[in-house]
Amino acid sequence: MTKYIYAFEEGSQSMKDLLGGKGANLAEMMRLGLPVPDGFTITTEACIEYLKQGATLSDELKEELHTQLKAFSERTGKSFSSDDNLLLVSVRSGAKISMPGMMDTILNLGLNDENVEKLAEKTNDARFAYDCYRRLLQMFGQVVYGINMTAFDRFFDKYKEDNGYETDAEIPAEGLKVISARFKEIYEEEVYKPFPQDPFTQLTEAVEAVFKSWDNDRARVYRDLNDIPHDIGTGVNIQEMVFGNSGDRSGTGVAFTRNPVTGDNHVFGEYLLNAQGEDVVAGIRTPKEIETLAQQMPEVYQEFVDVTEKLEAHYKDMQDIEFTIENGKLYILQTRNGKRTAKAAMKIAVDLVDEGVITKEEALTKVDVKSIDTLLHPTFKPEAIEAAEAISDAGLPASPGASTGKVVFSAEDAKVQADQGEKVILMRPETSPEDIEGMVASEAIVTTHGGMTSHAAVVARGMGKCCVTGCSNLNIDTENKVVTYHGQTLNEGDIISVDGSTGNIYLGDIEKTDADHSEDFDRFMQWTQETARLNVRMNAETPQDIASGYQFDAAGIGLVRTEHMFFGAERLVQMRRFILASSQEERIEALNEIRKYQIEDFEQIFRLSNGRPTIVRLLDPPLHEFLPKTNDEIQLVSQQLNVDKDVLRKRIVDLHETNPMLGHRGCRLAVTYPELAEMQTEAIIGSVLKLKNEGIESQPEIMIPLVSTVEEFKTLKDTIQATAESMLAKDNTSIDYLIGTMIETPRACLIAGQLAKESEFFSFGTNDLTQLTFGFSRDDAGKFISEYINRGLLEVDPFQTLDVDGVGQLIKTAVEQAKAANPNIKIGVCGELGGDPKSIHYFNNLAIDYVSCSPFRVPGAMLAAAQSQAESERAIGAKQ
Ligand code: PEP
Ligand code: MG
Repeated sequence: MTKYIYAFEEGSQSMKDLLGGKGANLAEMMRLGLPVPDGFTITTEACIEYLKQGATLSDELKEELHTQLKAFSERTGKSFSSDDNLLLVSVRSGAKISMPGMMDTILNLGLNDENVEKLAEKTNDARFAYDCYRRLLQMFGQVVYGINMTAFDRFFDKYKEDNGYETDAEIPAEGLKVISARFKEIYEEEVYKPFPQDPFTQLTEAVEAVFKSWDNDRARVYRDLNDIPHDIGTGVNIQEMVFGNSGDRSGTGVAFTRNPVTGDNHVFGEYLLNAQGEDVVAGIRTPKEIETLAQQMPEVYQEFVDVTEKLEAHYKDMQDIEFTIENGKLYILQTRNGKRTAKAAMKIAVDLVDEGVITKEEALTKVDVKSIDTLLHPTFKPEAIEAAEAISDAGLPASPGASTGKVVFSAEDAKVQADQGEKVILMRPETSPEDIEGMVASEAIVTTHGGMTSHAAVVARGMGKCCVTGCSNLNIDTENKVVTYHGQTLNEGDIISVDGSTGNIYLGDIEKTDADHSEDFDRFMQWTQETARLNVRMNAETPQDIASGYQFDAAGIGLVRTEHMFFGAERLVQMRRFILASSQEERIEALNEIRKYQIEDFEQIFRLSNGRPTIVRLLDPPLHEFLPKTNDEIQLVSQQLNVDKDVLRKRIVDLHETNPMLGHRGCRLAVTYPELAEMQTEAIIGSVLKLKNEGIESQPEIMIPLVSTVEEFKTLKDTIQATAESMLAKDNTSIDYLIGTMIETPRACLIAGQLAKESEFFSFGTNDLTQLTFGFSRDDAGKFISEYINRGLLEVDPFQTLDVDGVGQLIKTAVEQAKAANPNIKIGVCGELGGDPKSIHYFNNLAIDYVSCSPFRVPGAMLAAAQSQAESERAIGAKQ
């Protein structure tokens, strides 16, 4: 019989898959002798089984639950029915990969009309007992039966108001009794049956609710966002309650062993006295900084600091710890590797290496590739900040970034407006897990309540999104869609700028500046290069982009898309003259003009590359992309080129293609207009020779796009070679240059061996290869791909993450054939997938030399390449 429940004392850190992260870590902490309230964990397997059956808890599981409860009662000496030693438990979810706030928790389970009286008597504190009871009624009603919290909150707030209580703490026992009684009525009105008085029924219903919460919308969205599989299920942890709300020597809090925003090495956290569970994370009351606990309860504080040190040393990583103090005694309720900003991740990784806790290779696993992006984000220009008008006293800098957008007041509005292409800033009193989609859609999030560990702060940091919390000077009125501050107002649609690194908010759009790199960043990136086998090049053609890529230490340029160089007004005129020419003579005339621009550009590119390999691709796109479309444009072009409008119109019609992606593009252009390949070769070689005279070496690699046959390749290779060689002969000089092909049609993959005999390098164009392998238009697939993913027909968008089974297989076959035919061939990938971590992992395991991606993806690609290499080496090591 499968064992579905494990007591904490039976588990360990290594059982994460089965017990979930929270369960495994509770067990581990117990093994370390830390003060953890006892309990047991229902496995993730039980959850998966339950969701498969889609019915109620199996008899088998209920029986095991009974047996475990009995053993638990014996260990603790407490039971649900005891008069003196009443057992109350918390029920919490806990998946293998932590999903903060995404699933459900119930506290104080076991209370009923009778037990609440027993608790009041035992603790001599009826206020406390009824506070626990009303919380259970609320949480149970919400989590198990989906009762809207506002149903309870409305009554609670009105009761406070009617009786003149400012804070929750002022409500006396009698008041909480009245509130509990009314909550039971609300429960019954909503659920059509009374609140279950039997604790075991409460427990089984709560367990079922946690299982079901695995599939709720917000959990699904969170998993999609964080690449967490949907089929691993959650564990359920049932743990003896300890009470942070049992008076002024009690409290509850969350702390990180290092600062999760900056990475600084000191305990960083918040707590609330006389509060329970979710009060801190929910952001309803603004908590105190952990350091003040040193004054309020010095021994507890010291014990807590000792625990944090022990846990960090044990897990060799920054920990996020939940704790409760019950009448002066400390309990640890959870530890996990803490979520952190990219900046903090980098600093913590580098510091842990310097402290001798982890190796450089281990450090590489501590920074998420996706988070690297946020380090490269711009910040506001200091001069622009000085001139800007701040709209609030500083809030808390919960998650760094510099964002500008229009104010919106609800997650729904954020989503709708972002879908319409607006940049929006979500302003809320606080956020809750229901707001997740709106948070994703926003540039930044601003809240008035809550601290650095509030829902908004934690979730935004996880997303790498700019966030400011605790702006207590702003009054955010979501109903009337207005913010008031210092006698002024801000309305929906007004533009503001949010600085997540300082907590400041400003009116209007503020000029930004490129991100600057810390010393930690440079050291860390150096380690990635020491570990990675794959080189990372960039796809770029403008001086600014190339400079950025080289700033990130790109190994060269993997793709210069020459067509991107013709969008300037003047160049476009010449390009149009070329396309519209009716004879070869006219075409050559136009090309002579274009050559001048090309030489200028290539000279700049090779100068910036300064000896690093640089692939220049021959013109690729369908020519009609350059032609005028509207009547006004046609009028203008007819004047510029001195061509009759009707002749122009006719030429446009002639050039029209039904399937331009499959039409006259790629190498087919140069096959039909060899003078194009000649001109581009002359410009490349000419600029290299010019630089050579200045003493600057270049490594030009000339690439032919969209090849499907060996003959196509050979024809163009001959043209390029003949042109280059005649130039070199004329100059009586020589240079190293390569001629290679893109591999971006399935046919090219299948004849890769033959192509490799002719070609000096290959570069996989995974954008076109994916398009042609699936038959999905890369321009139109957006219309259906998300539905495919939502309905499980596709796991991921194959234009963003490699389709291993199809496109991946073609690439693998091609690489194997190519290497067999030409062991010296250089192979790279230059489609979008060249910057995607999962795809990079696949490419790293093939015998290819580099990936190439847009400049700002270069550092992430370098880290992904290093992580992949470290993982492969670990796997080989483990086998030996
Ligand atoms: C590709 O197809 O992957 C590629 C890099 O070329 P382009 O995107 O310019 O077609
Ligand atoms: Mg392509």
